[in-house]
Amino acid sequence: MPFPELVARVAEVRDRIGLAVARGGRGQAVTVVAVTKTHGAEAVQAAAAAGVGDVGENRVQEALAKMAETSAPVRWHLIGHLQRNKVKSLDRFALFQALDSSRLADAVNEFGVERDNAMKVLMQVNFAGETTKGGFYPRDIATESERLAGMSGLEVKGLMTMARLDAPESELRQTFAAARDAREILRSAGHPATELSMGMSSDYEIAVEEGATIVRLGTILFGERE
Ligand SMILES: *Cc1c(COP(=O)(O)O)cnc(C)c1O
Repeated sequence: MPFPELVARVAEVRDRIGLAVARGGRGQAVTVVAVTKTHGAEAVQAAAAAGVGDVGENRVQEALAKMAETSAPVRWHLIGHLQRNKVKSLDRFALFQALDSSRLADAVNEFGVERDNAMKVLMQVNFAGETTKGGFYPRDIATESERLAGMSGLEVKGLMTMARLDAPESELRQTFAAARDAREILRSAGHPATELSMGMSSDYEIAVEEGATIVRLGTILFGERE
């Protein structure tokens, strides 16, 4: 059986999340998204068998290939950049977590209107200011969320962010708190923004203490990627 330790790792992660929710005192429910990128479809199967019903992929082509190889009953999340000419693949995903530009938003909206089905998205926000990472800059959130509020082809469920890798705890908390504040801006603009997707293998407990409702975990579940 591939990933023989997965069941135990999922149990430990869920325990730690429970403790972090208690420490954070916000009482939120937390969805674990198993990030299966670079692993084969057997990782998706293993996640489902271990009771994790949400999987995340950062590349569309890789995700579609795995979808074709497994009928595991999971919700697929796209957590990486999407090219505008590939928006049609969004109807295969439960949630697109990486809406990172106005032009992409226009394309997603157009597709949702055409399908008569609002695409569920998270705005990706670059709080860490790293130029290597995509996403809206914090200063643009208010304007952009007002603009998106007029679009019937997409539904902004919240936001996704990545903290700087190896950042000290104080900086992680600052980033995650900024994300929490930004969610309020989305709500004020009328979006049904309940989700805060933040926290990866190295920082998910702090993210949950700060209010994460979705954590995206790869390494801690499946081991190091090649
Ligand atoms: C790869 C990836 C993750 C998972 O990272 P780990 O450190 O392996 O848990 C989470 N979010 C995004 C956007 C990713 O690309």
